[in-house]
Amino acid sequence: MNIPFNRAVIAGREMEYIAQAITAGHISGDGTFTKKTHALLEGALGVPKALLTTSCTHALEMMAILLDIQPGDEVIIPDFTFVSTVNAFVLRGARPVFLDVRPDTLNLDESLLEAAITSRTRAIVVVHYAGVGCEMDSILKIANRHGIPVVEDNAHGLFGKYKGKFLGTFGAMASQSFHETKNFTCGEGGALLINDPRFIERAEIIREKGTNRSRFFRGQVDKYTWVDIGSSYLPSEILAAFLYGQLEQREKIQSHRRRVWETYRSGLEGWAASHDVRLPVIPEHCEQAYHMYYMLLPSLDARQKLIQHLKENGILSVFHYLPLHLSDMGQKFGGKPGDCPVTEEISDQLVRLPFYNDLTLEEQQKVIDAILGFSFSK
Ligand SMILES: *Cc1c(COP(=O)(O)O)cnc(C)c1O
Repeated sequence: MNIPFNRAVIAGREMEYIAQAITAGHISGDGTFTKKTHALLEGALGVPKALLTTSCTHALEMMAILLDIQPGDEVIIPDFTFVSTVNAFVLRGARPVFLDVRPDTLNLDESLLEAAITSRTRAIVVVHYAGVGCEMDSILKIANRHGIPVVEDNAHGLFGKYKGKFLGTFGAMASQSFHETKNFTCGEGGALLINDPRFIERAEIIREKGTNRSRFFRGQVDKYTWVDIGSSYLPSEILAAFLYGQLEQREKIQSHRRRVWETYRSGLEGWAASHDVRLPVIPEHCEQAYHMYYMLLPSLDARQKLIQHLKENGILSVFHYLPLHLSDMGQKFGGKPGDCPVTEEISDQLVRLPFYNDLTLEEQQKVIDAILGFSFSK
């Protein structure tokens, strides 16, 4: 029995909905299933506007356009995140300012935020790593004091909460990912959540190739024309139909993922304590989104040996982000070793365990037994 790190799983009526979309003869964007998905996200999260996009990367690119990021503007970004979080802003000419993360949640360290703000700072981007909320109260307080917008890359955090409020509803805007590796998927896909209504009209235009097509279809203007910059950021109805089938099953999917997460924790906590291995920290005031299960090994060497040991047992485990400031691109922006010591350390130590929507208890027990049978010297 081989256990992959991830796999896509049908949750409910995805195939039936795809067939419906095709039979209805409308498979380009913004048809029935896209509208149903927008309404589902808006209703479930209480956001004024949700727009499906072709990826989270594209939702981030839309945010950078909507915030009018100009060459030379500074954007504060956690050092420990996916390249898309930063690329979207660099594409507009921004200079990224990488901030180190907290050693407990691996989220942007809010105690370093104020000192990183300059007269050129135009945005603060937060990432709720593993679907555990950043310290939004402190972050918003500092940002508001300086009049700087906060946006959320919520790729991991759909349906997670911070102090009882959904992640993705704190910033002016937030991005979601429906890539195959996320909790809910359509293969490749994303969404832009808009909390500040001032951005809604322009977001619809940017998503529709810079045209006012959405307003035209609603009868709000009598001709449809080129009014702004933009691109093609809307997914096909086939993808929206698949995604709607997934999101309809959100309670089932999230409760399964919660069981997976809790089974790993209870199965591994004794071993972790006696081997100097750190398990995820979930602050009291956060309801996590159960996106992943990771462990921090005492060293790079121990981490690599564990990945190898699991591989020999037919189990695929993976590491995660490398520090952005030390990447080839990060160094072009002046990144040097020692700039973000926490990210540099945990990036070498982190390993993620198999986690998907039909991972069985038997498969999980095999993973846990393999880990309990792994010994290493510190
Ligand atoms: C997955 C991910 C993305 C990119 O998502 P796509 O939908 O593949 O573009 C961006 N940011 C974070 C934090 C992610 O985990």
